[in-house]
Amino acid sequence: MYDTNNIFAKILRDEIPCKKVAEGNYFLSFYDINPKANTHVLVIPTGPYLNAHDFAQNASPVEQIGFWQGVDETLETLKLKENGYRLIMNTGINGRQEVPHMHMHILGGNDIGPMVVKK
Ligand code: AMP
Repeated sequence: MYDTNNIFAKILRDEIPCKKVAEGNYFLSFYDINPKANTHVLVIPTGPYLNAHDFAQNASPVEQIGFWQGVDETLETLKLKENGYRLIMNTGINGRQEVPHMHMHILGGNDIGPMVVKK
């Protein structure tokens, strides 16, 4: 169940501030409050979707295209394309998703390091 009081829903309703990078009808991107790289930005859909599979199954094609265009526009604005970046979507308990509104992490501006640390 989507919780309309999650922090990203509040950002979308302008109830709490964010440091915006780009926005469109179907996405908003803003700087992560606790950056894990020189550049750490989140891209979220404007619709109420819990995670990647909720979005894939329930968002309209227009929303899905709009979200990906938002990721691309954000990468362009941040000038990350030339040197590369990492996209991450944490989902559920094993993925350690903290905020229950779908979000894409964009990490760049330096070498992000190994994908995961082996157990
Ligand atoms: P996740 O573990 O994938 O759910 O990541 C949630 C991310 O949201 C974390 O990297 C947090 O630092 C970030 N975050 C939480 N609250 C805010 C906020 N108010 N503004 C920007 N980023 C936030």
